[in-house]
Amino acid sequence: MRPPLWRGLTVPYVTRWSGEAPLGGRPRHTTGGLLAYPIPQEGDWTYGVLWARTASDAGRGEPVSHAIHTARQLTCMRDGLCQMCGNPARTSQGRTLWLLPANEAERIRGNGTPWTRTPPTCHPCMPTALDQLPWLRDGDASAFSVAAAKPAAVFGDIHSPGGHVEVDITVALDETGTLPDLLGRQLLVTLSGLCEEPIVPRSPWAPYLRRSSPDKGPY
Ligand SMILES: [Zn+2]
Repeated sequence: MRPPLWRGLTVPYVTRWSGEAPLGGRPRHTTGGLLAYPIPQEGDWTYGVLWARTASDAGRGEPVSHAIHTARQLTCMRDGLCQMCGNPARTSQGRTLWLLPANEAERIRGNGTPWTRTPPTCHPCMPTALDQLPWLRDGDASAFSVAAAKPAAVFGDIHSPGGHVEVDITVALDETGTLPDLLGRQLLVTLSGLCEEPIVPRSPWAPYLRRSSPDKGPY
């Protein structure tokens, strides 16, 4: 699988395109107190959480800056797939390769919680990811190979039964009192058995790519 190009730049597998619209209408609480779409479908809930339903049609329209496609992010996190190309991000030792932004790498080195919502990156895609992903290119990213990744938390929006919505909240999977009110948009995993790996150098064209795609640009 090769990621599509848009205006000469690679579009990551996890990026949402403008043609991939939200589906299902506005979620609401059922009489049992669980957040649900008006017409529930099999597979709406995972880990006790309702997940944002979005059309899956990568390549339709334009890539949306900083927007993540929920179903593809979930697949990458659970199956160890590369956020750039969607192929397995396995090393020759059977470990999974992760490229983490500076803040997450610093937290892990400082014995903080080793969780992340950044999906893996395969070895061949590392230079392109460092050049083009907004959450990796603006700082010193670090590479780790990882023995295992376990689902740990959900990033999304909390819908109160009264209709109030709190956006961009992270809820741990053991916070069972809050999970029924959550509309999940990204999965966080806890990484274990980490080994720091060398960074594959950025492309020599990176400065020119960044100059032609400013912060609010597509990539
Ligand atoms: Zn890749």
